[in-house]
Amino acid sequence: MNECGINPSATLAGKMPWDLLHGGNSPVWERRRGFTLIELLVVIAIIAILASLLLPLMSRAKETGKRTKCLNHLRQLGLSLVLYAGDHQGWFPPRSDVRRWPTQLRDGYRNLDLLKCPSDLPKPDTGGTDARNYPADAAPRSYIINGWNDYFKDAMGSAFSMEAIAGKSIRDSAFKKPTMTIAFGEKKGEPGHGHFYMDFLEGTGNDVEEVERGRHSTGAGIRKSGGSNYAFADGSARFIKHGRLLYPMNLWAVTDYFRTNRIFSN
Ligand SMILES: [Zn+2]
Repeated sequence: MNECGINPSATLAGKMPWDLLHGGNSPVWERRRGFTLIELLVVIAIIAILASLLLPLMSRAKETGKRTKCLNHLRQLGLSLVLYAGDHQGWFPPRSDVRRWPTQLRDGYRNLDLLKCPSDLPKPDTGGTDARNYPADAAPRSYIINGWNDYFKDAMGSAFSMEAIAGKSIRDSAFKKPTMTIAFGEKKGEPGHGHFYMDFLEGTGNDVEEVERGRHSTGAGIRKSGGSNYAFADGSARFIKHGRLLYPMNLWAVTDYFRTNRIFSN
Protein backbone atom coordinates (compact mmCIF):
# COMPACT_ATOMS: atom_id res chain seq x y z
CA MET A 1 0.00 0.00 0.00
CA ASN A 2 1.18 3.51 -0.72
CA GLU A 3 -0.21 6.77 0.54
CA CYS A 4 -3.05 6.77 -2.03
CA GLY A 5 -4.30 3.44 -0.81
CA ILE A 6 -3.38 1.62 -4.00
CA ASN A 7 -1.20 -1.37 -4.18
CA PRO A 8 0.83 -0.81 -7.40
CA SER A 9 1.73 -4.43 -7.78
CA ALA A 10 -1.91 -5.46 -7.46
CA THR A 11 -3.01 -2.96 -10.16
CA LEU A 12 -0.44 -4.18 -12.58
CA ALA A 13 -1.08 -7.81 -11.92
CA GLY A 14 -2.02 -9.78 -15.04
CA LYS A 15 -1.90 -6.81 -17.42
CA MET A 16 0.45 -5.94 -20.25
CA PRO A 17 1.88 -2.38 -20.45
CA TRP A 18 -0.17 -1.48 -23.56
CA ASP A 19 -3.37 -2.47 -21.79
CA LEU A 20 -2.59 0.16 -19.22
CA LEU A 21 -1.68 2.66 -21.87
CA HIS A 22 -5.14 2.42 -23.40
CA GLY A 23 -6.72 2.35 -19.99
CA GLY A 24 -9.13 -0.57 -20.35
CA ASN A 25 -9.28 -4.13 -19.27
CA SER A 26 -9.68 -5.60 -22.74
CA PRO A 27 -6.71 -5.81 -25.15
CA VAL A 28 -6.33 -3.05 -27.72
CA TRP A 29 -7.13 -5.33 -30.73
CA GLU A 30 -10.59 -6.01 -29.32
CA ARG A 31 -11.50 -2.43 -28.62
CA ARG A 32 -10.35 -0.79 -31.90
CA ARG A 33 -12.56 -1.65 -34.85
CA GLY A 34 -10.34 -0.25 -37.68
CA PHE A 35 -9.02 2.95 -39.18
CA THR A 36 -11.03 6.09 -38.84
CA LEU A 37 -12.12 7.94 -41.95
CA ILE A 38 -9.58 10.69 -41.29
CA GLU A 39 -6.76 8.17 -41.06
CA LEU A 40 -7.79 6.56 -44.35
CA LEU A 41 -8.00 9.93 -46.07
CA VAL A 42 -4.54 10.86 -44.82
CA VAL A 43 -3.09 7.58 -46.14
CA ILE A 44 -4.82 8.07 -49.52
CA ALA A 45 -3.54 11.64 -49.72
CA ILE A 46 0.03 10.52 -49.01
CA ILE A 47 -0.18 7.81 -51.69
CA ALA A 48 -1.58 10.35 -54.17
CA ILE A 49 1.25 12.79 -53.45
CA LEU A 50 3.91 10.07 -53.84
CA ALA A 51 2.32 8.87 -57.09
CA SER A 52 2.18 12.39 -58.50
CA LEU A 53 5.89 12.76 -57.72
CA LEU A 54 6.90 9.40 -59.19
CA LEU A 55 4.74 9.20 -62.33
CA PRO A 56 6.43 12.03 -64.27
CA LEU A 57 9.83 10.53 -63.44
CA MET A 58 8.68 7.14 -64.68
CA SER A 59 7.18 8.49 -67.90
CA ARG A 60 10.35 10.50 -68.52
CA ALA A 61 12.49 7.38 -68.11
CA LYS A 62 10.16 5.53 -70.47
CA GLU A 63 10.43 8.27 -73.11
CA THR A 64 14.23 8.30 -72.80
CA GLY A 65 14.20 4.58 -73.60
CA LYS A 66 11.98 5.12 -76.65
CA ARG A 67 14.20 7.94 -77.87
CA THR A 68 17.27 5.68 -77.68
CA LYS A 69 15.47 2.92 -79.57
CA CYS A 70 14.40 5.39 -82.27
CA LEU A 71 17.99 6.66 -82.58
CA ASN A 72 19.11 3.08 -83.15
CA HIS A 73 16.52 2.72 -85.92
CA LEU A 74 17.88 5.82 -87.64
CA ARG A 75 21.45 4.61 -87.17
CA GLN A 76 20.47 1.41 -88.95
CA LEU A 77 18.76 3.35 -91.76
CA GLY A 78 21.81 5.60 -92.12
CA LEU A 79 24.01 2.54 -92.32
CA SER A 80 21.71 0.95 -94.91
CA LEU A 81 22.03 4.11 -97.00
CA VAL A 82 25.82 4.14 -96.83
CA LEU A 83 25.95 0.42 -97.66
CA TYR A 84 23.64 1.01 -100.62
CA ALA A 85 25.89 3.82 -101.90
CA GLY A 86 28.90 1.55 -101.46
CA ASP A 87 27.23 -1.04 -103.69
CA HIS A 88 26.24 1.55 -106.34
CA GLN A 89 29.44 3.54 -106.99
CA GLY A 90 28.44 6.15 -104.44
CA TRP A 91 24.90 6.77 -105.74
CA PHE A 92 22.04 6.98 -103.25
CA PRO A 93 18.71 5.25 -104.08
CA PRO A 94 16.95 7.02 -106.97
CA ARG A 95 13.69 8.83 -106.26
CA SER A 96 10.82 6.54 -107.16
CA ASP A 97 7.05 6.47 -106.91
CA VAL A 98 6.80 2.69 -107.19
CA ARG A 99 9.72 1.03 -105.52
CA ARG A 100 10.64 3.59 -102.90
CA TRP A 101 13.52 3.85 -100.41
CA PRO A 102 12.11 1.47 -97.75
CA THR A 103 12.18 -1.24 -100.44
CA GLN A 104 15.40 -0.07 -102.11
CA LEU A 105 17.31 -0.18 -98.81
CA ARG A 106 15.94 -3.55 -97.77
CA ASP A 107 19.36 -5.26 -97.91
CA GLY A 108 20.40 -3.12 -94.94
CA TYR A 109 17.62 -4.08 -92.52
CA ARG A 110 15.31 -7.04 -91.86
CA ASN A 111 12.46 -6.09 -89.55
CA LEU A 112 9.86 -3.64 -90.87
CA ASP A 113 9.34 -2.40 -87.29
CA LEU A 114 12.61 -0.54 -87.85
CA LEU A 115 10.63 1.97 -89.93
CA LYS A 116 8.63 2.96 -86.86
CA CYS A 117 9.55 5.23 -83.97
CA PRO A 118 8.27 3.84 -80.64
CA SER A 119 7.07 7.33 -79.65
CA ASP A 120 5.00 7.69 -82.84
CA LEU A 121 1.35 6.63 -83.23
CA PRO A 122 0.84 2.83 -83.25
CA LYS A 123 0.23 2.96 -87.02
CA PRO A 124 1.84 6.04 -88.54
CA ASP A 125 0.64 6.94 -92.02
CA THR A 126 2.43 5.68 -95.13
CA GLY A 127 1.87 6.54 -98.77
CA GLY A 128 2.52 2.94 -99.84
CA THR A 129 -0.54 1.01 -100.95
CA ASP A 130 0.86 -2.12 -102.62
CA ALA A 131 1.47 -4.29 -99.56
CA ARG A 132 1.68 -7.46 -101.67
CA ASN A 133 4.54 -6.42 -103.95
CA TYR A 134 6.19 -3.74 -101.78
CA PRO A 135 5.52 -4.58 -98.12
CA ALA A 136 8.28 -2.23 -96.91
CA ASP A 137 6.75 0.73 -98.77
CA ALA A 138 3.31 -0.04 -97.37
CA ALA A 139 4.48 -0.61 -93.77
CA PRO A 140 3.57 1.98 -91.09
CA ARG A 141 6.45 4.44 -91.20
CA SER A 142 7.77 7.24 -88.99
CA TYR A 143 10.74 8.27 -91.11
CA ILE A 144 11.23 10.39 -94.21
CA ILE A 145 14.24 10.61 -96.53
CA ASN A 146 15.69 13.82 -97.91
CA GLY A 147 14.35 14.59 -101.42
CA TRP A 148 17.49 16.70 -102.12
CA ASN A 149 15.36 19.35 -103.90
CA ASP A 150 17.88 22.15 -103.46
CA TYR A 151 20.68 20.05 -104.91
CA PHE A 152 18.62 19.06 -107.99
CA LYS A 153 17.42 22.63 -108.49
CA ASP A 154 21.01 23.82 -108.40
CA ALA A 155 22.26 21.06 -110.71
CA MET A 156 19.37 21.11 -113.21
CA GLY A 157 18.71 24.84 -113.44
CA SER A 158 15.65 25.66 -115.53
CA ALA A 159 15.04 21.97 -116.28
CA PHE A 160 14.13 21.45 -112.64
CA SER A 161 10.59 20.50 -111.65
CA MET A 162 9.16 18.05 -109.12
CA GLU A 163 8.18 15.78 -112.03
CA ALA A 164 11.62 16.04 -113.65
CA ILE A 165 13.44 14.67 -110.58
CA ALA A 166 11.62 11.31 -110.72
CA GLY A 167 14.23 8.57 -111.07
CA LYS A 168 17.10 10.95 -110.17
CA SER A 169 19.58 10.34 -107.38
CA ILE A 170 22.38 12.10 -105.56
CA ARG A 171 25.95 10.89 -105.21
CA ASP A 172 27.93 10.86 -101.94
CA SER A 173 30.55 13.17 -103.51
CA ALA A 174 27.86 15.89 -103.79
CA PHE A 175 27.93 16.54 -100.04
CA LYS A 176 30.23 19.26 -98.85
CA LYS A 177 29.23 18.69 -95.23
CA PRO A 178 27.96 15.08 -94.98
CA THR A 179 28.00 15.07 -91.15
CA MET A 180 25.80 18.19 -91.17
CA THR A 181 23.37 17.19 -93.93
CA ILE A 182 20.31 15.21 -92.91
CA ALA A 183 19.43 12.09 -94.88
CA PHE A 184 16.56 10.82 -92.68
CA GLY A 185 14.28 12.56 -90.21
CA GLU A 186 11.07 11.81 -88.35
CA LYS A 187 7.82 12.72 -90.08
CA LYS A 188 4.36 13.34 -88.71
CA GLY A 189 2.38 10.15 -88.16
CA GLU A 190 -1.21 11.38 -88.48
CA PRO A 191 -3.36 10.46 -91.52
CA GLY A 192 -2.45 12.61 -94.52
CA HIS A 193 1.26 12.61 -93.63
CA GLY A 194 2.43 9.55 -95.53
CA HIS A 195 5.24 11.33 -97.39
CA PHE A 196 8.33 9.36 -98.42
CA TYR A 197 10.50 12.31 -99.51
CA MET A 198 11.25 15.56 -97.69
CA ASP A 199 10.72 18.13 -100.43
CA PHE A 200 11.67 21.75 -99.81
CA LEU A 201 9.81 22.84 -102.91
CA GLU A 202 6.49 21.13 -102.32
CA GLY A 203 3.81 23.39 -100.84
CA THR A 204 5.40 25.68 -98.28
CA GLY A 205 8.07 23.02 -97.71
CA ASN A 206 8.02 19.56 -96.18
CA ASP A 207 10.74 20.59 -93.72
CA VAL A 208 8.11 22.70 -91.97
CA GLU A 209 4.88 20.85 -92.82
CA GLU A 210 5.80 17.16 -92.78
CA VAL A 211 8.83 16.79 -90.55
CA GLU A 212 8.10 16.16 -86.86
CA ARG A 213 10.67 18.27 -85.06
CA GLY A 214 9.54 17.47 -81.51
CA ARG A 215 8.63 13.81 -81.37
CA HIS A 216 10.72 13.12 -78.28
CA SER A 217 9.50 15.58 -75.71
CA THR A 218 9.59 15.22 -71.94
CA GLY A 219 7.32 18.15 -71.16
CA ALA A 220 3.82 16.72 -71.51
CA GLY A 221 2.49 17.65 -74.94
CA ILE A 222 4.93 20.51 -75.48
CA ARG A 223 6.68 19.51 -78.68
CA LYS A 224 8.84 22.58 -78.86
CA SER A 225 10.50 21.58 -75.59
CA GLY A 226 11.72 18.36 -77.18
CA GLY A 227 13.40 17.29 -80.37
CA SER A 228 13.70 14.46 -82.87
CA ASN A 229 16.28 12.00 -84.14
CA TYR A 230 18.04 12.31 -87.49
CA ALA A 231 20.44 10.29 -89.65
CA PHE A 232 23.04 12.15 -91.70
CA ALA A 233 24.52 11.66 -95.15
CA ASP A 234 27.65 10.03 -93.66
CA GLY A 235 25.49 7.40 -91.92
CA SER A 236 25.76 8.86 -88.40
CA ALA A 237 22.68 9.63 -86.29
CA ARG A 238 21.89 12.06 -83.50
CA PHE A 239 19.18 13.93 -81.61
CA ILE A 240 18.48 17.56 -82.50
CA LYS A 241 16.36 19.96 -80.45
CA HIS A 242 13.18 21.36 -82.04
CA GLY A 243 14.56 24.87 -82.49
CA ARG A 244 18.00 23.80 -83.73
CA LEU A 245 16.94 22.00 -86.92
CA LEU A 246 16.12 24.89 -89.21
CA TYR A 247 18.03 27.62 -87.37
CA PRO A 248 20.68 29.05 -87.55
CA MET A 249 21.21 26.65 -90.48
CA ASN A 250 18.73 24.45 -92.29
CA LEU A 251 20.29 21.02 -91.75
CA TRP A 252 18.26 19.40 -94.54
CA ALA A 253 20.02 21.52 -97.15
CA VAL A 254 22.82 20.29 -99.42
CA THR A 255 23.55 23.67 -101.00
CA ASP A 256 25.02 26.61 -99.12
CA TYR A 257 22.22 28.82 -100.39
CA PHE A 258 19.42 26.77 -98.82
CA ARG A 259 21.51 26.04 -95.76
CA THR A 260 21.82 29.71 -94.88
CA ASN A 261 18.76 31.28 -96.53
CA ARG A 262 15.99 28.81 -95.85
CA ILE A 263 15.92 29.22 -92.09
CA PHE A 264 13.11 29.28 -89.56
CA SER A 265 13.61 30.28 -85.96
CA ASN A 266 10.24 29.11 -84.62
ZN1 LIG B 1 11.61 8.87 -82.78
